[in-house]
Amino acid sequence: DDLPTIGALYSSGQLPSETPTAPLRKPSQDVNRRVSLVRTDITSLAVDAIVNAAKNSLRGGGGVDGAIHRAAGPGLVRECLARYPDGCDTGDAVITAGHNLPARNVIHTVGPIYQSQAASEPLLRSCYQACLRTAVENDCATIAFSGISTGVYGYPADNAAHVACSVVRDFLEQQDTEGKIQRVIFVTFLDKDVNAYNSVLP
Ligand code: ADP
Repeated sequence: DDLPTIGALYSSGQLPSETPTAPLRKPSQDVNRRVSLVRTDITSLAVDAIVNAAKNSLRGGGGVDGAIHRAAGPGLVRECLARYPDGCDTGDAVITAGHNLPARNVIHTVGPIYQSQAASEPLLRSCYQACLRTAVENDCATIAFSGISTGVYGYPADNAAHVACSVVRDFLEQQDTEGKIQRVIFVTFLDKDVNAYNSVLP
């Protein structure tokens, strides 16, 4: 109960000024209790699924993708290529085992390279939705998200945090009505992302 809540985001006045979205409803207490924010290396988390900000090829890369592949070992890229030889579309998600990671699964999603809010926000929303849907379909009750597109793909941190929070809120309230997702963890790494989530999760 001491964990940060997403309530204040929706109680108005707290939204980043560049976010042109309509005021959002206040989430239920139940939804707030299922959302956490932590600053850590995502490869350290023993959860049902960690979310990788992957590349279309699913062959690994820099940033969090590289860190996850290094920690998981070579079995991860082998499984990616065997199961998903065509890779993954931007805005979509696929799931693999966690291999040498403490996490049971990795959900790989491909965020948009940031162009403009109008062009990129629908794709970023789609990433979060696809990950949550994939988690439910694969009985993942605990899911930890890295920042999608907030590294070299250049998505502004405040807007990305707002998208992440609003999609998760809507999914937990409207689509996961059976409460299959027990815990969503937003994982931050750099100061700019810590600050962005703190501005939407006071
Ligand atoms: P993208 O290409 O989607 O922008 P990046 O890997 O460059 O992906 O960055 C995504 C986010 O992951 C960034 O916010 C970055 O700070 C963060 N990040 C990088 N390494 C780690 C890690 N080991 N654990 C958690 N987050 C990380």
